[in-house]
Amino acid sequence: MQQTLKKEIIFNGIGLHSGKPVTMRVSPASENTGILLTRSDVDDSLNTIEAKWNHVVPSELCTLLAWQGANGEKITISTIEHILSALRGANIDNAHITLDGPEVPIMDGSAIEFFTEIEKTGVQTQSAPTKYIRVLKEVRYEEGDKYAVLKPSTIPTFRFDLDFDAPAIGEQTFEAALVNGYYKHDIASARTFCTLDTVDAMRERGLALGGSLENAVVVDGEKVMNPEGFRFENECARHKTLDAIGDLYLAGAPILGAFHGYKAGHAMHTALLRELFADESNYEVVNGAIDDLPAIKTFHQEPTQRQHVSASA
Ligand SMILES: [Zn+2]
Repeated sequence: MQQTLKKEIIFNGIGLHSGKPVTMRVSPASENTGILLTRSDVDDSLNTIEAKWNHVVPSELCTLLAWQGANGEKITISTIEHILSALRGANIDNAHITLDGPEVPIMDGSAIEFFTEIEKTGVQTQSAPTKYIRVLKEVRYEEGDKYAVLKPSTIPTFRFDLDFDAPAIGEQTFEAALVNGYYKHDIASARTFCTLDTVDAMRERGLALGGSLENAVVVDGEKVMNPEGFRFENECARHKTLDAIGDLYLAGAPILGAFHGYKAGHAMHTALLRELFADESNYEVVNGAIDDLPAIKTFHQEPTQRQHVSASA
């Protein structure tokens, strides 16, 4: 069945790019609402938008929604991927996110605070069946040697491979099924990351003004600048998985399929959704059909066995 939150949750933080304080309210929403986002600081009758792929504007650094308000002004909300990932990871179908600024707070650069608060607040089961988007055939989006693929699968799985120039990151792989509590244990706490030289380049462009070692892992060649180091030896691949889970939730419903990203990013995840929905024979919408799968039912249990890909922590 569909799920929402038992009550509203408030998050206070700063925007990664603006560096400005922002308050985010995540509230319960009725059945079949999906995920809505509102800019309460924008005085416009159209200051609310659905979290859907067709409202995304290309951006390499984060996932950015942009649309035209009733007054003709462009309204934007950026860095939506981590809260969407936490909502997907917690199996929340319906929620209303309200922000008093243009950016979702970055928190510690992962989704763990979002996920933990959702879990603490509790999940309310609703009376309509969950909608899933079942992948019926392979859909692929490529750019050079990079790719993002969705294949049919009876349970939702995510795999990410990256190959980063900085030796501190290098080649990493992570794979997990979105069942049995793996999101909480192996994905939610993986932080965003970047290289020291991209920090300088972003600052020059007026971006990442709120970025610090409190909300990102920064590497310089072989060196990790954060005194605490990585949370997992493959934390970067886990974070890219976290991002992919959030970006793919812009499908408007959970995807029942297997995702594999190779050196992909936010823009490619959105392009993959565009490919998926471009041909109706690629997918079907199923209502509640997989609620009965054992793996889905036991989602909120602790994982019984750590996967071989989750080596440390
Ligand atoms: Zn991210």
